[in-house]
Amino acid sequence: MGCIELSLFIGFKYASINKIAVASDYEAQYYLGISTLFAYMSYINMSSSLSYDVIIIGAGIVGLACAERLSSSGAKVLVIERHPGFGNETSSRNSEVIHAGIYYPQNSLKAILCVDGNRKIYVWCEKYRIPHYRIGKFIVAVNKDESERLENIYQNGIANGVQGLKRSPIENFRKEEPHINAHSVLWSGSTGIVDSHKLMASLEYLAIECGCDFAYNHSVEQIKPISSGYEVVSTDTHGNKSSATAGIIINSAGLDSDSVAEMAGINADKTGYRLHYCKGHYFKITPSKSHIANHLIYPVPNDKLHSLGIHITCELDGSLKLGPDSQYLATRQQDYSISGEAHRKFYQAAAEYINGLEYDDITPGLAGIRPKLQTEGGGFRDFVIAEESGKGLPGLINLIGIESPGLTCCLTIADYVFGLLR
Ligand SMILES: Cc1cc2nc3c(=O)[nH]c(=O)nc-3n(C[C@H](O)[C@H](O)[C@H](O)COP(=O)(O)OP(=O)(O)OC[C@H]3O[C@@H](n4cnc5c(N)ncnc54)[C@H](O)[C@@H]3O)c2cc1C
Repeated sequence: MGCIELSLFIGFKYASINKIAVASDYEAQYYLGISTLFAYMSYINMSSSLSYDVIIIGAGIVGLACAERLSSSGAKVLVIERHPGFGNETSSRNSEVIHAGIYYPQNSLKAILCVDGNRKIYVWCEKYRIPHYRIGKFIVAVNKDESERLENIYQNGIANGVQGLKRSPIENFRKEEPHINAHSVLWSGSTGIVDSHKLMASLEYLAIECGCDFAYNHSVEQIKPISSGYEVVSTDTHGNKSSATAGIIINSAGLDSDSVAEMAGINADKTGYRLHYCKGHYFKITPSKSHIANHLIYPVPNDKLHSLGIHITCELDGSLKLGPDSQYLATRQQDYSISGEAHRKFYQAAAEYINGLEYDDITPGLAGIRPKLQTEGGGFRDFVIAEESGKGLPGLINLIGIESPGLTCCLTIADYVFGLLR
């Protein structure tokens, strides 16, 4: 489909981003099987007569997926990112799990996009040789009460159309996972793990192949509605201001997507777009204990679905990690430190269902921050993926609250956004 079919591609106004970083990634080319190497990072000077069909704010996995989807459909796309490269925030600080879509309420965007996204990620990974492994996961109930909740989770997953979800006989489980305590378990055969960095590299590479420009080291500070769309003003790391225009703006700014929506004139509090930061810590399990789990092992999550509980994730290199927990932050600082208190909490949570794990078997790993619409103690909130004509801002697409399963959904979110523009 060509860009002329996108009825909202109306923005043709002159822009003046001075330096655009066109980044390509060696690994992406390697995994795509392409031998010609671009320079790792090259800069081109843009003339002052440049305009775009689409400007995407944020080069996390969702912004990159949108960039690939739209530029491969013929649109002239610019991605503006404040860091020197892609995936420097939440997209590099997560479990890298390809979720199946089990827990989310029926007909929610999270459920629909995750079930479809799960399938699409595997196809993508096969096609572009992105390291991944359909390892499967057990959800483990440790008592009768949790077993009842597990049955509800099973029914929900089936209603969501999850593939490969089964009640698993406890005897089989004990053979498969002799170090894990369980009263009853569910097996999710379509859950897997992926190298998210290489997935992002493939998206960036393919977008560049389709002519997409990347303005790294540019922080967006203003979005001004103009007659033909929007003017986006950004500042680079030297404090120089530049601007570009487009008929369509995609706000995929992750932890700052509510602030970016406000730049366009939206009141985040009144519209329910205000984000709350919810931190998740990880602990690495010492290599000598990497035999304690052979699959992903998840506890039964709490009813409010703030997180899926402190689980065991297998990495592609065979190592194991524990996490993430869920801790709402009082401020909006991106604080990724890990305290000694977290160590005790993790050990206690893990010891509930893992046999033979000692306190010193776990050491601090990374931390990530969820951009949550859900308040602490509040009810379920779905992704916001909205074209804002109704707010007097035609062509502005807001992607807000793209927490888990956002990585799994990246390709389907991009398809959904494409659908909104047709
Ligand atoms: C602890 C944790 C575990 C998770 N585990 C999983 C999992 O196992 N599976 C799964 O499917 N999902 C998981 N997720 C969710 C997943 O990581 C996110 O949904 C996904 O990474 C979101 O991608 P994004 O592109 O929307 O945001 P981001 O990766 O945050 O990218 C947004 C980008 O916007 C840029 N930006 C922001 N403001 C500006 C500005 N003003 N100007 C320029 N650039 C700007 C930022 O620098 C950033 O690079 C997890 C998340 C967390 C926190």
